[in-house]
Amino acid sequence: MDDRTFRTAMGKFATGVTIVTTKVGEDIHGMTANAFMSVSLDPKLILISIDEKATMKRYIDHSNQFAISILNDQQKDMSAYFAGQKKEMKEVDFHWFNGMPTIDGALVKLTCDVDNSVVAGDHTLYIGKVTDVAITEGEPLAFFEGKYRKMEDYSNIKE
Ligand code: FAD
Ligand code: NAD
Repeated sequence: MDDRTFRTAMGKFATGVTIVTTKVGEDIHGMTANAFMSVSLDPKLILISIDEKATMKRYIDHSNQFAISILNDQQKDMSAYFAGQKKEMKEVDFHWFNGMPTIDGALVKLTCDVDNSVVAGDHTLYIGKVTDVAITEGEPLAFFEGKYRKMEDYSNIKE
């Protein structure tokens, strides 16, 4: 199986989009990630998967903490920017939540301490223990077949 076939297959799994953020001293770093899932209710754990080549891996290994911002349907540009797909560098006005930088206006903000990490092939899985959460009303940004979508692109499934 070639890489393209695998990515095409994985792209059929519709997800939301998050920005992972962390800080080492005063130095803040952000990265777009859709490999995010809820893991456990007691204790409250979530998981992210970070490419070993990503700058974010070095940041989290130093800080041992990170935040997750689940993007709303108006934040496509933010996703593209933190995936390194925009040429220009911009000044991002981070929203501070529980001592961590997060994305202003995101549907959900979570702060986490790294509970465990597991090297899995060319990625590292970080299990985060959730230390705080904030929820805002709105519609999610979705990602399907390598493209950003709005939930309204799809009609409700009739019973
Ligand atoms: P860079 O590529 O250096 O940083 C990303 C961008 O953010 C750069 O433009 C940088 O200038 C900017 N930036 C970072 N911090 C700041 C700051 N403080 N102020 C201003 N600008 C800043 N990769 C994974 O490993 N796991 C995933 O789950 C994953 N999911 C993805 C989902 C989607 C929808 C997309 C589009 C990409 C995904 N990627 C994922 C790929 C990943 O987002 C990119 O490879 C990303 O560029 C890797 O980030 P980096 O940490 O290496 O840092
Ligand atoms: P794409 O077709 O590359 O992605 C479709 C799906 O394939 C993703 O949702 C993800 O589940 C999987 N995937 C893609 N690259 C992967 C990787 N390196 N490791 C593990 N799974 C991966 O979509 P796209 O719009 O071309 O993606 C834009 C860029 O972001 C690409 O460079 C892609 O590699 C990267 N990306 C990385 C991950 C990841 O590392 N987990 C996830 C999504 C996108």
